[in-house]
Amino acid sequence: MEKKTIRDLDVKGKTVLVRVDFNVPIEDGEITDDNRIRQALPTIEQLIDKQGKLVLFSHLGRIKSEEDKEGKSLRPVSEKLAEHLGRPVKFVPVTRGDELESAVGSLQVGEVLMVENTRFEDIDGKKESKNDPDLGRYWASLGDVFVNDAFGTAHRSHASNVGIANNMDEVAAGLLLEKEIKYLGDAVENPERPFIALMGGVKVSDKIGVLENLLQKADMVLIGGGMSYTFMRAQGLSTGNSVVEEDKLDLAKSLLEKAEGKLHLPLDFRAAKEFSNDAETRVTDYDDLRDDEEGLDIGPKTIEKYAELLQNAKTVVWNGPVGVFEFENFAKGTKGILSTLAELKDTNTILGGGDSAAAAIKFGYEDAIDHISTGGGASLEFLEGKTLPGIQCVDDL
Ligand code: ADP
Ligand code: MG
Repeated sequence: MEKKTIRDLDVKGKTVLVRVDFNVPIEDGEITDDNRIRQALPTIEQLIDKQGKLVLFSHLGRIKSEEDKEGKSLRPVSEKLAEHLGRPVKFVPVTRGDELESAVGSLQVGEVLMVENTRFEDIDGKKESKNDPDLGRYWASLGDVFVNDAFGTAHRSHASNVGIANNMDEVAAGLLLEKEIKYLGDAVENPERPFIALMGGVKVSDKIGVLENLLQKADMVLIGGGMSYTFMRAQGLSTGNSVVEEDKLDLAKSLLEKAEGKLHLPLDFRAAKEFSNDAETRVTDYDDLRDDEEGLDIGPKTIEKYAELLQNAKTVVWNGPVGVFEFENFAKGTKGILSTLAELKDTNTILGGGDSAAAAIKFGYEDAIDHISTGGGASLEFLEGKTLPGIQCVDDL
């Protein structure tokens, strides 16, 4: 999938519309994780160097009514961006009209402007989220060329990505989008083998598409987390109070059959009688969970076995924590896997999924993993092998 990127663009003196994904967590006006802002800096800096006039668009949260706007302005985000860039970012507190048009019109080469939250357009008829054609056309009319760098939104067809792209002669990928396509795309389409996929998280049902695709593409799939128990139960094992999706037992059985031995399940668990960090824990073999116990993490034998299997991998894709990592006492499995991945020097290690990325960052493995995707839902859909509209709308080379 060869796409035009900003390296192929001549933006000198042009107004460049850039869709970034600055949908960052904000608590009491403070940005608690600015990873997505930092990841967009290379694109913004390169466009400044190439003497473009930059107009940035992003959404923030979900907006259904006037009240939802509270705390959802992009102003603090534009201030954080200015800090990182070391230059001013002009914030325009509206999404259309004279104020926006004249601010864009008076931009100088190398200057950066940020438009207010695109989803403020959702209050009146979901214009942004339903890709209202007039809105896309209007935003497109503000610039000369469009750059999409919002991987986190690439699984959505919205006015501020696909809508603008449909009305522009030239559409290029930003460097973050390019990097995401390269890592996730190569892993799924053209992996260096052996290719091992590691899947966790709460539910099988959230991950059916990813599981099915990775079972076909990977040489081995290692299972952890809450989804393990649906597979255990499907084999007739007792799972106590662990999370089991009764309506997915048949699916789990058929996946196990199709996998023909590629799929590995935990050998042991760390279990408790309550869903709490303070609960007393017991390590149990996979076939020894008691009726009043709930499996909340993989156990030490599993950590060791998975570490051993992972030694041979050339490519590893991981989605979904293998335990309730939010509780310190049930984070050992997730930390164990992270430390194994960190030590694999000749292996391409890739992490997708919002909670998985949060876990890697929380435990200090951000730099030890080759690629941590900035897309939660988008990375999952990409790993399912779906075509993402936010990528499709970029010009082919
Ligand atoms: P991602 O966002 O990376 O795709 P998910 O959202 O699928 O991951 O899953 C993350 C959640 O799975 C975490 O909140 C974690 O607490 C939960 N989880 C992991 N293992 C278990 C388990 N054994 N029982 C219950 N929840 C679990
Ligand atoms: Mg999640």
